[in-house]
Amino acid sequence: MTGSLPNDRLIKEMPKIDLHVHLDGSVKPATVLELAARQGLPLPAGDEAGLRPFMQVEEGQCGSLRQYLGTFGFVLQFLQTAEALEQAACEVVEQASGHNCKYVEVRFGPQLHLHNGLSLDEAIAHVIIGLKRGEQLYGVKARAIAICMRHHSFAVNSEVIEAAARFLGKGLVAVDLAGDEAAFPAAAFRELFEIARQRKLPVTIHAGEAAGPDNIYEAIMNLGATRIGHGISLREDPAVLALVKERGITLEMCPMSNIQTRAVTGWSSYPVRHYYEQGIAVTIHTDNMTVSDTNLTKEYGILADIFHFTASELAAIVMNGVEAAFLPDAEKQLLKQAYIRDFHALGIDVQHAQT
Ligand SMILES: [Zn+2]
Repeated sequence: MTGSLPNDRLIKEMPKIDLHVHLDGSVKPATVLELAARQGLPLPAGDEAGLRPFMQVEEGQCGSLRQYLGTFGFVLQFLQTAEALEQAACEVVEQASGHNCKYVEVRFGPQLHLHNGLSLDEAIAHVIIGLKRGEQLYGVKARAIAICMRHHSFAVNSEVIEAAARFLGKGLVAVDLAGDEAAFPAAAFRELFEIARQRKLPVTIHAGEAAGPDNIYEAIMNLGATRIGHGISLREDPAVLALVKERGITLEMCPMSNIQTRAVTGWSSYPVRHYYEQGIAVTIHTDNMTVSDTNLTKEYGILADIFHFTASELAAIVMNGVEAAFLPDAEKQLLKQAYIRDFHALGIDVQHAQT
């Protein structure tokens, strides 16, 4: 089994992990219908199919990360109450459980949910409540990551870091930087992530998605990132690639999203196999289940079908994710054992897999 190509059933059944999934990009259209009705807000369409164009990028129609990010404004208007945040967070866990995900880190920009009177701390608290509810209902361990937005001021973002620090170890595990990478390079955020360092907050940074490897270098060396969101442009600079490898930095790659934002021109230039073979800690995630119309099974299916990853190689990628989870060591060890047990039950030996 170890060297064999996985079939669809095996890909569906194997235990998975999602460390890079955005709350606002993963709200189900049916939930927007519900939330709009409950909140008395108007909708441009009355059914799920009619809403999809407002929540999803069209195949081949999205030209850039900036255009991709444009879909988020629509959903955010419905995510301004405690109840909505709890439901959306719980449902991300539910969706993950449908693909045998055992652990999920759900990220969101708490400052994007304050238009209806919630405070920063309330926004974070209600997302965590929703994740905990999902964890209990679906048996998927779930934690939150707070995002600073590139286009927000230092003052706004530093409040997010301080609020995140108050929830560290209480359902929140890290902070992130997201948004328009091309317009706001990583170097402008040194002072901000110095606060994260002082507060001992683990850091992941979106870098090398819509800009070059300089941002990846900056995120690692000056912003304290131990994980990089996407990192597609890494191959353009062998020195930065060597740095990522040496330091064991994890790449959170999101194939469907990376194609849609034109981080690469097509699958033939998608570097997942290249990075994997270089010994880089590659991991695979959904980014935005609704915006990208994806799920973990689909993403791993792409790796098997297009890049010919074997079952044991896919297992190694999953285990890279378990290793990179922002969890305390003891919890991570338990999680690791649970994954190994599940892989063994499917006849996949992860002992020999590259982790
Ligand atoms: Zn992302």
